[in-house]
Amino acid sequence: MNLLKDDFISTTQGKVSLKTILTSNENYQLQYYFDEIQLAMLQLLSSLATVVLQPTVKELKGYLKNSLTPEQYDTALEKIESQWFESDCFMQSTPPVNAKWPDAPITKLVSGIECGTSANASGLFSEIEQADTCCPDCMHVLNYNLHMNIKGECFGPSGATGIRGGGSISTLIAGENLKQTLLNNTIATDYFYGSTELDSDASELPMWIEPVAGSIYQASKIGLNRGLFALAYHIAFTIQDETCCCDVCGHESTQSIKKFNREKYTGAYGSKKEGRDGGAGWWPHPYTPCSIREDGVYAVCARDQHWQSWQQLASYIIGKETNKSSFTPAYIIKQFEHMKSPRQTNLLVGGNIADQGGITGRVYDLYSMPSSLNKNLAKVTQVIDVGLEQKERLSLAFNKMFGVGYDKSFVGGIKESAMHSFSANAQQIIQQTLLDVDRKQALELRKSAHIDLQKEARRIFLAVQKKYQHDLPLFKALVKGEVVLYRK
Ligand SMILES: [Zn+2]
Repeated sequence: MNLLKDDFISTTQGKVSLKTILTSNENYQLQYYFDEIQLAMLQLLSSLATVVLQPTVKELKGYLKNSLTPEQYDTALEKIESQWFESDCFMQSTPPVNAKWPDAPITKLVSGIECGTSANASGLFSEIEQADTCCPDCMHVLNYNLHMNIKGECFGPSGATGIRGGGSISTLIAGENLKQTLLNNTIATDYFYGSTELDSDASELPMWIEPVAGSIYQASKIGLNRGLFALAYHIAFTIQDETCCCDVCGHESTQSIKKFNREKYTGAYGSKKEGRDGGAGWWPHPYTPCSIREDGVYAVCARDQHWQSWQQLASYIIGKETNKSSFTPAYIIKQFEHMKSPRQTNLLVGGNIADQGGITGRVYDLYSMPSSLNKNLAKVTQVIDVGLEQKERLSLAFNKMFGVGYDKSFVGGIKESAMHSFSANAQQIIQQTLLDVDRKQALELRKSAHIDLQKEARRIFLAVQKKYQHDLPLFKALVKGEVVLYRK
């Protein structure tokens, strides 16, 4: 099986190839059990499309506008070393002879059910047995997911950290259909090299052909093709001639995989402290927003279990300056802005909450984006600001409870759970409001966000008030809080 040529992608219409998706007008939809794998597949396929097409901005615009013919795909494919993408070598480098080479169940490659040492890293949404066998087609996305998305520490404290760091957020541009989505996230090589600071002689060889060496992996020496599939582990899968129904894609297969062996690389990327301190630098992964602090660059991660992506949406699209750090959007957002696509698009924000192994620690949110980011971005940020303002007001209103002499953790608990409800419900309200981002004027959009979010903040406040109406000190404090919440 070759990832650039053969049918290994699970869709609602069966297994198809990258070429088929990119060159036909069929509306394919990915079909995987876990939204996390879906997210990894989108990144894997756009990265593969980048390797094959190596487009300039101009060419990519053409593909987005007029689609791509099978002949164009084949011509592009002839120019690259497609044998590097054969199933038996893709993203699998050979370990040193004296390697310990421990094995592990493939379950560990699905972070929703990773089984690491952290207290939260246990199967929360399904039993481990529900993802213990995969087909040879799906082993690649699991391998990719390990290297690009999940925390290496799922193998315990000795785990390696990949090029993007562990548990980083991904932002992708979702199009009208799968083909558009993959092309939207394909990297235009001229623009990428023009806007990043990689060395002109940075290597484009995949790491399974030429592994990284030394104790520090210099980001500037890692070219686009090499970085898109950067490795942190030598890895091999045990393929058995045993039929199975794949736990990842649901298809029947004549071969099955339950185990893999791995050996971590000994050096460090800039995503790790040793790498940062050693001057490795940050490799500009195109799908990761990052925060730049005094001591280095970090991937933006989701923070805790109750974190909702809307609160940081503005920083994913335009960036944000605070006194401690500055956020920059992922490269792919800048490319999208630069290309001025006329089509309707959405922003997909996904990832795993750092240190949380379970389903509750995953993020997969879709936002409508204005067709012209330059012109209409203010509309998005205004909606977010309304949400943040209501959240702040609600918080101040609840703070009045702290003055009545009750135990701080008791009062804090009441406030915290109410604030979590607000953040979670605001997530839906904001996603809903932004559906109209192209149709409504800024003022109208802001107004509608204001009405809905204010209503939600007041509803949550009222529910708490009702619950404690017989507790006089608390009730009185909440009446004072009400004034704050309702103040014009
Ligand atoms: Zn499968």
